[in-house]
Amino acid sequence: MADLSQLSIETIQALASQRVGRQLGFVDGASVEPLSEATFNDVSPIDGKLLCQVANCGNEDVDRAVRSARQAFEDRRWSGLAPRERKKILLKFADLIERQSFELAVLECRDMGMPITIAMNMNLPAAVESIRWHAEAADKVYDEIAPTGDSALALVMREPLGVIAAIVPWNFPLMIAAWKLGPALAAGNSVILKPAEQSPLTALRLGALALEAGIPSGVLNVLPGLGEVTGKALALHKDVDAIAFTGSTEVGKLLLHYSSRSNMKRVSLECGGKTPNIVLSDAPDLDVAARAAAFGIFNNQGQVCNAGSRLLVHRDIHDAFLEKVTSVARSLKVGNPLDPTSQLGTLVDGKQLTRVEHYVDIGQKEGAMLITGGKRVDIDKAGFYFEPTIFDQVSNDMTIAREEIFGPVLSTLTFADVGEAISIANDSPYGLGAALWTSDLNTAHKAAKGLRAGTVFVNAFGGVDMTVPFGGFKQSGNGRDRSLHALEKVTDIKTTWINLS
Ligand code: NAD
Repeated sequence: MADLSQLSIETIQALASQRVGRQLGFVDGASVEPLSEATFNDVSPIDGKLLCQVANCGNEDVDRAVRSARQAFEDRRWSGLAPRERKKILLKFADLIERQSFELAVLECRDMGMPITIAMNMNLPAAVESIRWHAEAADKVYDEIAPTGDSALALVMREPLGVIAAIVPWNFPLMIAAWKLGPALAAGNSVILKPAEQSPLTALRLGALALEAGIPSGVLNVLPGLGEVTGKALALHKDVDAIAFTGSTEVGKLLLHYSSRSNMKRVSLECGGKTPNIVLSDAPDLDVAARAAAFGIFNNQGQVCNAGSRLLVHRDIHDAFLEKVTSVARSLKVGNPLDPTSQLGTLVDGKQLTRVEHYVDIGQKEGAMLITGGKRVDIDKAGFYFEPTIFDQVSNDMTIAREEIFGPVLSTLTFADVGEAISIANDSPYGLGAALWTSDLNTAHKAAKGLRAGTVFVNAFGGVDMTVPFGGFKQSGNGRDRSLHALEKVTDIKTTWINLS
């Protein structure tokens, strides 16, 4: 993977000054004008200026893409290939994405404000890794023969579902798209990728790269458009077999409704979170834990589903620990995302900025104490920058402890013992992640079991590895991205019972 140190300021500036033309959908192996003839504006959060116009695909566009994807699936141009052939092509697809890393990373920053360091060191490598990992797995996963006895041979096999609509958010556009594409394509499905309207640009590059890699036309289609237009039409379409979704819990619930109103399509959901980060008084190293707590909430300006937005600190170490986290927060540089020294870039758009300001206001009104931050940062009189913000004296019934802010805002709560910490942590509609800091192995094991979350980190915060599943309990969703478990939402199990008696 090309690393950031090879990406000079001059290259970043040259790539960032490239004009972005009008963006179309990618259907049946070609860029296509939208039948709806509608477009929407894609604005850069760096300066609030128009980047380009993008097709807003409507019902007829969705119909056309579904027909293409269905045809590709039915004639088995992709699913009929030997898994080792799909593997070869997908590995090439990953190589092509990697080859364009600089360009894609800069485009991602311009489109949604992610710092270039995160785009280059996390978002792009994770996207490439997801396609590569699932490509490698394609010819290594075996099916089963059930232990029925001699009178029958029962084959239990995974089959691709058919046409999958991958509806993805804007916070890590390429990485999350690749988490859906890797398993869906490796298993032989056709996919229609619907990027978020705030960040469609990099996803729209994938169609042509897939074709160049040898993925047959119709197998990967990309439809940009507004959620309530393109996303809704996909989710209501009777010939889409499954939705693989990442986004808000609110929209996740709508998708379940659309599925029940149409064809009962499978709906896998990776939704919101309000991750508790619990620091016990015997945490092994408070400096390490404080840096991790700050990274856990301020990474990507807090626009991370698994952001450690609730910091639970044992009352005995509360003052010392909060001072450390605050000092890290104050040291972070908020700046232009294209500047490699910026640690926080911009929020995705003005709407998100207003949302964060609204929660800071509510936090204060409900009695939480603002320790640092809380204001918009004025950089070049443009862009949607916000200070790393910390609240103390938060109780778990306050709005800022219950609702997902999706911005750089940390809520600090205290507890007296591990039992109380776990009950506060679990008292949430969400269950995506949790973290715990302790030197005691017994406490770690018991607490990890007690925490209702899809991932529990012990003495760490974060860890993106393709080998481990990622997803949530409760209203954080169902199904898993990453690892072989990701295949479960894009395949069905078929039993073939052969009578031998
Ligand atoms: P969002 O739910 O608003 O949008 C996500 C996607 O759904 C977008 O492509 C959007 O266009 C589409 N959409 C919106 N309305 C729709 C509708 N009525 N029908 C069909 N599709 C529709 O979420 P967002 O603002 O893009 O992303 C932020 C949210 O994503 C946060 O809640 C965050 O926690 C969540 N998220 C979760 C994970 C995870 O893995 N659990 C990862 C990243 C983000």
